[in-house]
Amino acid sequence: RAKNAGKKAFKFYTPEMSIRFNERVQLESELRRAIDKGDLSIVYQPQIDGRTGKILGFEALARWYHVQRGWVSPVIFIPIAEETGLIGKIGEWVLKEACHQLKKWQDNYSHTLKMAVNISSYQIHDKDMVEKVLSIINTSDILQGSLELELTETSLMDNIDSTISTLAELSKHGVSIAIDDFGTGYSSLGYLKRFKIDKLKIDKLFINDITTDSNDAEIVKTIISMAHNLNMQVIAEGVETEAQLNYLINNGCNEVQGFYFCAPKSPSVISAMLMKNRHILPAER
Ligand code: C2E
Ligand code: MG
Ligand code: MG
Ligand code: MG
Repeated sequence: RAKNAGKKAFKFYTPEMSIRFNERVQLESELRRAIDKGDLSIVYQPQIDGRTGKILGFEALARWYHVQRGWVSPVIFIPIAEETGLIGKIGEWVLKEACHQLKKWQDNYSHTLKMAVNISSYQIHDKDMVEKVLSIINTSDILQGSLELELTETSLMDNIDSTISTLAELSKHGVSIAIDDFGTGYSSLGYLKRFKIDKLKIDKLFINDITTDSNDAEIVKTIISMAHNLNMQVIAEGVETEAQLNYLINNGCNEVQGFYFCAPKSPSVISAMLMKNRHILPAER
C-alpha cells in the first residue's frame, strides 16, 4: 500500500508535493514508533440522552502525543495509518483498550454503559475481523450487546458482499453497527438497506445550522424519522448549543454527542464524572 501511494505521488511530481510526501513518510515512521512506544492514547466522549442528561455510553477517539509536534490530530494520522496499513495494528489496539476500559466502567458504575469504536474500511476487509472482535469481547469480558462499531458510508462502498457477511456475523454476536458521518457520503438508502445497520449518526455538518438553515433543519428531521421508520436508532454528533439540542429533542432524536454536554475526555476524568453522577448537566462541561 505504501509503495502504491509513493508511486502515485511521483507520477504527479511537483517540488511542493515531494515535501508533502516526505513529511508523510516522516510521520509514518514516527507513527510506527509511537505505537511501539505507547504514545497513542484514547479519549472518550459521552453519548447522552439529551432529555435527561444520562450518559448512555461513549465513543472512543484515538490521540497521539508527539514530543516535538505536540498533539497530532487523528484527522492527520488516521489517513496515514490507513494508507500504510498501520491502521490494522492501531485499530485493534483501540478496540482492545476501549473494551477493557468499558469493562471497568461497567463493573464500577453500570452494566448498561456502551462503547462505540471507529473502524476503518481496512479493518472491515480484514478476513480475521470477526475473529479478532469476538476474541476482544471475550477477553475483556464486556457485556453482550455493549459494543458498537462505527463505519462510514464510504467504507461500505467496496467489497460489498464480504462486508455484508462480516457485519451480519458480528451482528449475530450482539455487536451493533452505526453509520458515522451519515449524510456526507454518496450511498443511497437502497444500498444501505443491504447492510445490517443499527444506528445512524447524523453528521455534524447538518447539526451546525439546524437552527438557522431551514434546509438543514428539514434534512435532519427527515433523517430522524427515516431512521425510526427503518427501526434504526439515531444519534446527532457535534451538538454544541442548547437550541440545537432542543430542535433535536423536539424532533425525536434523543441521543446526542457534542461539546454542549461534554468534549472527549481522558479515562480518569470520565471515571470521576461517573462517580459523581451518571447524569451530566451542560453546565459541567
Ligand atoms: P468521528 O468519528 O466523526 O468523531 C467525531 C469527531 O468530532 C471527533 O474528532 C470529536 O472530538 C469531534 N467532536 C465531538 N463533539 C464535537 C462538537 O460538539 N463540536 C466539534 N467541532 N467537534 C466535535 P476527533 O477526535 O478529532 O476525530 C476525528 C476523526 O478521526 C473521527 O471522526 C474519526 O473519523 C477519526 N478517528 C478518531 N479515532 C479513530 C480511531 O480509533 N479509528 C479510526 N478508524 N478513526 C478514528
Ligand atoms: Mg465516529
Ligand atoms: Mg462522525
Ligand atoms: Mg468524521
